[in-house]
Amino acid sequence: MEPLLLTKREKRKLATQFADLCLTCGTCAGGCPVTGVDGLDVRKAVRLVLLGMDQELIDSRFPWVCTLCGRCEHACPMGIDLLAMLRSARTHRERNKVPGVLHKGVEMCLKTGNNVGIPKEDFLFLLEDLGAELAEELPGFEVPVDKKGAKYLFTINSKEPFAEPEDMMYWWRILYAANESWTTTSENWEGVNWGLFTGDDAAMKEIVGRIVKNYKELECEYLVLPE
Ligand code: SF4
Ligand code: SF4
Repeated sequence: MEPLLLTKREKRKLATQFADLCLTCGTCAGGCPVTGVDGLDVRKAVRLVLLGMDQELIDSRFPWVCTLCGRCEHACPMGIDLLAMLRSARTHRERNKVPGVLHKGVEMCLKTGNNVGIPKEDFLFLLEDLGAELAEELPGFEVPVDKKGAKYLFTINSKEPFAEPEDMMYWWRILYAANESWTTTSENWEGVNWGLFTGDDAAMKEIVGRIVKNYKELECEYLVLPE
């Protein structure tokens, strides 16, 4: 694992930049909605980097308590790039130390095309079954899958087919009422990219690339992400 957020040269440059720029005014921490949660103080995170204590920041809870909302960076009078610093600390955390199930979900998505590992045949059976149920209320309704030339390509939050399948029927009803042309896909339909949250750019890129491939192959006009 790379020990530092940046190369030594980049770090020197950054430290100089921060030393020159950071006023230790605390505006960042004052505007942060989660200041104090697990001790989070974004001003302290800046000081850790300045003092060469990158690893302490990487090992801390700070980058994970942070929601990456960007308020601190927006408020900073010196325009310091706080979001890049915090997300980079996530990137450099050892993967087996990423909190919760996030990294397991990333691995599962790379392997199966969705974060919870729903097999293709189960997913298709569920869509067909729910579609038939909805057709009793909406004549002619069925869930379009891999429909070439559909206007909208919908990805799906795996939480829905996994735990709350009826929730999908709400947006299906809207699309039916609007008489819109849409589709989802039989593979790589996951719409929640946990690589974003874990700082795993390579996984994030791979997962996005699969969705874009579906979008292009199906010649859709719009791509809809649930989150
Ligand atoms: S708001 Fe900017 S200048 Fe002020 S403490 Fe935070 S990082 Fe430093
Ligand atoms: S990006 Fe993180 S540290 Fe900055 S204000 Fe939002 S939650 Fe706080």
